[in-house]
Amino acid sequence: MSTEKVVLVTGGSGLVGQAIKWVIENDNGRFGRKDGERWIFLTSKDGDLRSREATHAVFEKYKPTHVVHLAALVGGLFKNMKYKLDFLRDNLLINDNVLHTAHEYKVEKVVSCLSTCVFPDKTTYPIDETMIHNGPPHPSNFGYAYAKRLIDTQNKAYFEQFGHRFTSVIPTNVFGPHDNYDLQDSHVIPGLVHKCYLAKKNGTPFVVAGTGKPLRQFIYSRDLARLFIWVLREYDEIDPIILSVGEKDEVSIKDVADTIVKHLGFDGSYSFDTTKPDGQFKKTASNAKLLSYLPDFEFTPFDVAIQESVKWFLENYDKART
Ligand code: NDP
Repeated sequence: MSTEKVVLVTGGSGLVGQAIKWVIENDNGRFGRKDGERWIFLTSKDGDLRSREATHAVFEKYKPTHVVHLAALVGGLFKNMKYKLDFLRDNLLINDNVLHTAHEYKVEKVVSCLSTCVFPDKTTYPIDETMIHNGPPHPSNFGYAYAKRLIDTQNKAYFEQFGHRFTSVIPTNVFGPHDNYDLQDSHVIPGLVHKCYLAKKNGTPFVVAGTGKPLRQFIYSRDLARLFIWVLREYDEIDPIILSVGEKDEVSIKDVADTIVKHLGFDGSYSFDTTKPDGQFKKTASNAKLLSYLPDFEFTPFDVAIQESVKWFLENYDKART
């Protein structure tokens, strides 16, 4: 009998999926490809995972032993507010199809992806893994949040009824190569990179919304990828684990903008529009559980991670999601 590990990565063309592919192909140490592992990175063109039949066809084709489940309808605040039912239904369907087909195909392990924005709106900080279901999510993204929370519920049910090892991870804000740089609907880092790039190109001012003071935890996609690979190979709990830099590595929006300005070589007018809202000052998540497992994990310095992301953006402007 073959002992080959076949790892199927749903959402393999996205920000996180492409980072996992990069680490598997380029890391010569602990996190790179191991003998006897075959990695398959899916895009939506391989099958629409909202469809049960398409999901079955993909599992029948590749017969995975392991699944990294990233595929999701993902978007910024604007899209989340406008399409709540799509975020709820598409993600419920995708998650149920992937998890149940993994059950039917006797997949040994599934690692799915939640997000810190699915936590309760009213909570204490720092947030930790035990608090996911402690109250309603923020009204702006309840569709996405409830669909994601149910992954954790399903994982527990698959374990209790069938003994399956289906688990999940909870990343904070991810950025890196292959990000979505769309100006209307991107996250803060790719949005500012694109805005600053256009300011430089057009000789216009670079204006950042808000005071620049709020603090956020950002994780570089390639660091997240290394941690994902570790979870797949070594983390045995069903309960989720937060994958994030620690509280001391929170950076302000001003730090983010300064670093982008530096790496894009922008020397034009640069200011903060303090009439625009800031959002919450801090929403710290605890990475204590991660550090209890991997106390020596080295995160890429923020400056280096931004430099690599900006370089990728400049080199791939034509094919990036803008
Ligand atoms: P991207 O938007 O970059 O990628 C989404 C991926 O999902 C793409 O590969 C896309 O395929 C695929 N996909 C979307 N819909 C379908 C579908 N119906 N059928 C099959 N495939 C589909 O997302 P990220 O890489 O940023 O996110 C990956 C995971 O991480 C998601 O589960 C997300 O919720 C989570 N996450 C992301 C964070 C972030 O800051 N980005 C933060 C926390 C969690 P295609 O390219 O073909 O469209």
